[in-house]
Amino acid sequence: MSFSIFNTLGREVQEFKSIRPGEVGFYACGPTVYNYAHIGNLRAYVTHDVLARVLRRRGFKLTHVMNITDVGHLTGGDDGDDKMVKSAEERGKSVLEVAEFYTKAFFNDAERLNIARPDVVCKATEHIEEMIALTGRIEASGCTYQAGGNLYFDIARFPRYAELARLKIDALQAGSRVELDGNKRNPEDFVLWFTKSKFANQALVWDSPWGKGYPGWHIECAAMSMKYLGEQFDVHAGGIDHIQIHHSNEIAEAESATGKHPWVRYWVHNEFLVLGGKGKMSKSSGGFITLQNLIDEGFDALDYRYFLLGGHYRTQLQFSHESLSGARNARASLASLLGGLAERAGVGVDELVGRAVGGKAASYLASFDAALDDDVNVPRALASLWGVVKDADVPPEDALAAAFDMDGVLGLRLAEGLAKTTEGCCEDGALVAEVAALIVERTEAKKAKDFAKADLIRDSLRARGIALEDRPGRTEWRRIADKKLWAKAAQD
Ligand code: AMP
Ligand code: ZN
Repeated sequence: MSFSIFNTLGREVQEFKSIRPGEVGFYACGPTVYNYAHIGNLRAYVTHDVLARVLRRRGFKLTHVMNITDVGHLTGGDDGDDKMVKSAEERGKSVLEVAEFYTKAFFNDAERLNIARPDVVCKATEHIEEMIALTGRIEASGCTYQAGGNLYFDIARFPRYAELARLKIDALQAGSRVELDGNKRNPEDFVLWFTKSKFANQALVWDSPWGKGYPGWHIECAAMSMKYLGEQFDVHAGGIDHIQIHHSNEIAEAESATGKHPWVRYWVHNEFLVLGGKGKMSKSSGGFITLQNLIDEGFDALDYRYFLLGGHYRTQLQFSHESLSGARNARASLASLLGGLAERAGVGVDELVGRAVGGKAASYLASFDAALDDDVNVPRALASLWGVVKDADVPPEDALAAAFDMDGVLGLRLAEGLAKTTEGCCEDGALVAEVAALIVERTEAKKAKDFAKADLIRDSLRARGIALEDRPGRTEWRRIADKKLWAKAAQD
C-alpha cells in the first residue's frame, strides 16, 4: 500500500503523489509569537512533526518550512487589533522583544515535545521584500483595489475563491455577516498591504509602492512558502480554523500571482483540542493551558505528546487531566516493558538501534506502516507498538529493535527512556543506554539533514572517549582505548 492522506481540497483520502519524484515540499503555518503557545496550538505542531516523520520514513527527501509570524496578524480579521503590537503595549516591550521572547518559548516547548525543528524557520519581518514583490504580482494580475489607504484583494476577480472552504459566497454576501471594514467591496475581500494603523506608535512599518505600512498576515505565508518551496508544492498544513479565511486567502494570492493551479497539492488540517464545556482551546477563551502548566503539575512533556498520539489528527480531542494521567501511566508501562526486554535481550541495546528485524516483529512493523499509510492513523500505529512489546513470541532483541524503529515516527524518546530506567543499575548499563539514545538522535539528525547536530553528538561522545562508526544501516560504537588519542580527538 502506498501513503494516502485526507486532502481538504476534495474532502477525501487520496493516494499521495509528490510533484517531484522522491521529494516533498511541506509548509506548515507557524506560531504568532505574541504569547505562549497553548496546548491546542501544540497539537497542530505535533501533527506536523508526525506527518514530516512519516513522509521521511516513506523515503521522501522532505523540506519542511515553518513561518514565525511577528507582524501583521490581526485579531478577528482585517479590522481587529494587531496581536503583536497589542501584546508589546501591554507588556511595555518592543514588538521585536516580544517576538524574540515568545519564539524562544515556542522552541523550548517544541524541544520538550520532541518536535523536530523544521528545515527552514522563516520570520515574517525578514521577508518583507518577498511579500512586496508577490503583492506587486497580484496587483499586476488585476485582482486588487486600493481603498481607504489599504490594498485589498478583490475575491470577485478570483472565481476559485470558494473552492477550499466550499463557501457559499452568494449566501454570505446576502447574509447577515457584519463587515466592519466599510472599504471592502465584498465581505471576504482581505487586506494585502495596510497603511492605516490603529496604533499611532506602530514601530514596524516599511516603504512600499502602496505607501508606508505593513503586510497582511496571509501574504506572509504565501510569499515565504513559495520562496523556499517553489511556485507549486506538495503539502500545506494548519488547524481547521485556517481553512475558511487564512488558507483560502493564501490560495487566492498565490494562484492569482502565478497563474498556476493547484498551488498546493494536499491541504492537511488538524482538528481542535477542546476543553470540556469551554469548547476549542484558544488564547481568548479563558481555558488557556500551556505545556509549562502541565509540567508544573508533575507531568512530563512526553506524556502530553503520548496523549496527542492517542487521537487521530482529524478528530476532536477532548483534553482532561484524567486522560493525561492515563497517558502518563501508559508511558510508564511502556518503559517498564522495554526495561524488561532490555534485561532479557542477549545483546546490548546500542546494537539494536537501526537493526533489521524479521519474523513476527516484522509483521508488527508492517501493520504499523499500514496504519500510517492510511491517513496517518497514529492511534492504530500505537497499537502495533504495544503489540510487539507485549508479544511473548517475539524475541526481546527484535521487539526492542522494532520499538526503536517505530519511535522514529512516534518521537517518544523510547531509547532515552530506557537509559533512565537502567540508570543506577550499573554504570555500564546506563552508559550503553545513553549512547544508544544519542545514536538514535544522531541518526534522526542525519535523516533530517541536520549535519551540524549529528557532528556535535559524534564530537561530544569522542570527547568522552567513545568513537562512532557508521556501518550500512546502523552505527556502532567503541571505546577509544588510548587516552591521548581521546584528548586529541576532543581538541580536533
Ligand atoms: P495561531 O498562533 O493562532 O495562528 O495558531 C497556531 C496553530 O494552532 C494554527 O495551525 C491553528 O490552526 C492551531 N490551533 C489553534 N487552536 C487550536 C486548538 N484548540 N486545537 C488544535 N489546533 C489549534
Ligand atoms: Zn499561514
